[in-house]
Amino acid sequence: MSAIISVNDLHFSYPDGKQALKGVTFNVNEGECVAVIGPNGSGKSTLLLHLNGILPDTPSIPPSCTVLDLPVSQGNLPQIRRSVGLLFQDPDDQLFCPTVYDDVAFGPQQFGLPEETVRKRVTSALERVDLAGFDERSPHHLSGGEKRRVCLAGVLACEPSVLVLDEPTSDLDPRGKRELTSLLAGLPATKIIATHDLELVVRLCPRTILLDNGRIVADGPTLPLLSDEPLMLRHGLEKPHILLHSHPHG
Ligand code: ADP
Ligand code: MG
Repeated sequence: MSAIISVNDLHFSYPDGKQALKGVTFNVNEGECVAVIGPNGSGKSTLLLHLNGILPDTPSIPPSCTVLDLPVSQGNLPQIRRSVGLLFQDPDDQLFCPTVYDDVAFGPQQFGLPEETVRKRVTSALERVDLAGFDERSPHHLSGGEKRRVCLAGVLACEPSVLVLDEPTSDLDPRGKRELTSLLAGLPATKIIATHDLELVVRLCPRTILLDNGRIVADGPTLPLLSDEPLMLRHGLEKPHILLHSHPHG
């Protein structure tokens, strides 16, 4: 199997000097669904923002991330952003149009698709996230959960082969979480999901990467990793309730 995403010794500091990633290395193969967990501030969002070049690379340093065999560097960004759909942690960073339709249509329109194709993709994406008929609503007057689903519809409308999702189930109610988890389970795309929703991780992601303080501290099969209570506690997490009665390696 060939790696669809390859991250090699990625370091990143914010302009204020905060060192957010301190040498992160991993590969993701086509079709994998990988969870990225870790306490607040561990670098999950910073890592995800590198996968489609939202955070600027330093021109003097060769790019540390490769997506679909393309180095994530300025010249490759248009092609990379067609293939990698990124759902931001904060929906307000993603929504900027006066109507839901315009927001969901934005990506496909950027690809230069005919308006009829765009319209079909928007309708289908809104149906998938259970927001059929929301086309003319203003995204800014929606609830947190509805906003997040509009963002996801915008990502799905681009039909990316890689989905990079930053806390996709935060602000969803329990039914919304279940529905979104089922929706994601039915998508064939390769997925990388940063989340605190360990139920989603157990249901969806056979593999988990645990980040703490800008470094990967564990990377392996989800069930043994999440069942390792000392490991989880050491990194500010806890063994999920759904695994409480199972044995560590069962
Ligand atoms: P997580 O998503 O795991 O909560 P982040 O990637 O958001 O972690 O943050 C990693 C570290 O980088 C934190 O210490 C955070 O305070 C810092 N950080 C995040 N965004 C910025 C920014 N724009 N400027 C400076 N520091 C930031
Ligand atoms: Mg984050």
